Amino acid sequence: MDKIQENIPLAQFTTFRIGGPAKFFIEVKEKDDLSEAIKWAKENKEKFYILGGGSNIIINDKGVDGLVVRMANDNIKIHGERMETQAGAVLARAVRLAMGDNLSGLEWAAGIPRATIGGAVRGNAGAFGSSMNDIVETIEVFNIKKGKFELFSHKDCCFDYRESVFKKDNNYLIWNAVLKLAKGNKKEIESAVNKFLESRQNRQPKLPSAGSVFKNLPIDYLKENNANIADLANQAGVIKDGKVGAGWLIELAGLKGKKIGGAKVSLEHANFIVNTSQATAEDIIMLISYIKQQVRNRFNIQLQEEVQYLGF
Ligand SMILES: Cc1cc2nc3c(=O)[nH]c(=O)nc-3n(C[C@H](O)[C@H](O)[C@H](O)COP(=O)(O)OP(=O)(O)OC[C@H]3O[C@@H](n4cnc5c(N)ncnc54)[C@H](O)[C@@H]3O)c2cc1C
Repeated sequence: MDKIQENIPLAQFTTFRIGGPAKFFIEVKEKDDLSEAIKWAKENKEKFYILGGGSNIIINDKGVDGLVVRMANDNIKIHGERMETQAGAVLARAVRLAMGDNLSGLEWAAGIPRATIGGAVRGNAGAFGSSMNDIVETIEVFNIKKGKFELFSHKDCCFDYRESVFKKDNNYLIWNAVLKLAKGNKKEIESAVNKFLESRQNRQPKLPSAGSVFKNLPIDYLKENNANIADLANQAGVIKDGKVGAGWLIELAGLKGKKIGGAKVSLEHANFIVNTSQATAEDIIMLISYIKQQVRNRFNIQLQEEVQYLGF
């Protein structure tokens, strides 16, 4: 395939600004390019990896030994209350277009930088009590095993907290999404977007990061593993939608500001790790494992990563 490039640095495609080069790299805009790229990788016995906006990802410093497919299909069309958006479209643009058409349902996503619709669907991205689960109507995927495109209903997606069928089964590449929004009031939509942007402005670090590193924890899990911590969370009023923020626990463990190499637990939000200057993926991974070990040793609580690893 002549569109496939070699030895392309990947750090530029991530919000962490970290990661070595892809042995092979392609940006896909058309369905044929996606199916042919996957076929090429299979025929050439190369592994392949999908990259969206790179806003929830840690890429190996040594690079990625295989074909990295970057989703560049980014058309968005609005029909009444439905938004048809390709997987490579940036979520923030979808928010703006929805706002322009007085459509409500995506306000919560304002201020998430660079994330694509595909990445957001796969991880059921969400904030402020809402998530993709609330608005996805259908998803078109490329089925790798069958080598063809298929349609998934909302039910087929099996959304859960930061989970979906697409995260559990790498056989599906998200190509397109139909989102069901609702006609709303222009002023109310704008005011919600501004409120969420302001909230992010105050608590989101400015240095490069990949958003929340760990998943928040169900209060029932805390009760089972450490009743004292569960009580403390209750008293502190930090239980939201039945979950306790991982950042609250990390701060409680005294890890805010902890640094390994160029990676640091953010002072603004302890569930963010920031790249202070020349952090490597290794620095980030060492800090992640240090945090997990400390929280486990001190509180008997196991943190789980929300960030995804690519090329390890
Ligand atoms: C400052 C900041 C704030 C953030 N705030 C939030 C937040 O409030 N809520 C939240 O949920 N997340 C948040 N995030 C994390 C991130 O933006 C989301 O997880 C986002 O959905 C990831 O999308 P992406 O396109 O960047 O995916 P990537 O990081 O490129 O990829 C993530 C995973 O999805 C896979 N993938 C990507 N596209 C596809 C596709 N089309 N088909 C199949 N697999 C695919 C990749 O292979 C990878 O495994 C934040 C990140 C940052 C940097």
